[in-house]
Amino acid sequence: MIDETPVLDNHLHLDPDHHRGIDAVRDFARVGGTHLLVVNKPSWHLGVEAETGEDFRAVFERTIEVVEAASSELEGRAWPVLGIHPGLISRLVDDRGFSPDEARDLMQAGIDVAAEYVDAGEALALKSGRPHYEVDDAVWTASNAVMRRAFERASELGCAVQLHAEGSEEMTEVTEWAEDVGLPAHKVVKHYAGGRLEGPIPSVICDKDELETAAERGEPFLMETDYIDDPDRPGAVLGPKTVPRRVQWFLENGHEDAVRNAHVETPALVYGIDTVNTLEQA
Ligand SMILES: [Zn+2]
Repeated sequence: MIDETPVLDNHLHLDPDHHRGIDAVRDFARVGGTHLLVVNKPSWHLGVEAETGEDFRAVFERTIEVVEAASSELEGRAWPVLGIHPGLISRLVDDRGFSPDEARDLMQAGIDVAAEYVDAGEALALKSGRPHYEVDDAVWTASNAVMRRAFERASELGCAVQLHAEGSEEMTEVTEWAEDVGLPAHKVVKHYAGGRLEGPIPSVICDKDELETAAERGEPFLMETDYIDDPDRPGAVLGPKTVPRRVQWFLENGHEDAVRNAHVETPALVYGIDTVNTLEQA
């Protein structure tokens, strides 16, 4: 461990096939990482071409299995975050002949199934969002409707939602939609965020400049690598040792408050998790 502090990577993916992902967990733990939020990979990366909401179950259950294996490698533990990658809408509409409304219905059904796992205590939070690239108005409207379904379910469950969305420093409209259905803004997290964001809590990608910005801003934030994400964003992927190494760097540079913020206080605020008391007693 690093100076007795928990170290949480708020967003990464583990390959559930052949449990190759466990090597990444061992690398993370070896350099001081203690807790992980593991997000299911996009369904099509696992060869699942869903036609009904039920078809996403295979993706979610494989993620839950790999998270159990990951937890046994950690001094703390891992939790699953389940949902539908917003990029699915383009595959459905452009490649599989769905109308935007049909795609919306399928993706909302998938969110409903993910919510069942949160309700059963098998997953911690939901994942949703909207495309980070340009899409036409109908696809944008349908994507926002999927995201709003995730906010409704999260509000009912009292859980958080991680968003995959366009690069932005101002997303208060989105957190207003969450608040409209009773989900507080602090339960909405934007994954792959920069250090400065109005609206959702930023889950800051581990770039030193962005982390410095978040630390100096002093508002709640989380840290992530987005390890093994979309192959269409090569170079955007950081290795599993990166969050522990950046925590070490923060501590060496007098940012103890930022470490406590991102690894203890904000995880408690957003997810209601206790990263200190889930550490094994040494
Ligand atoms: Zn990701």
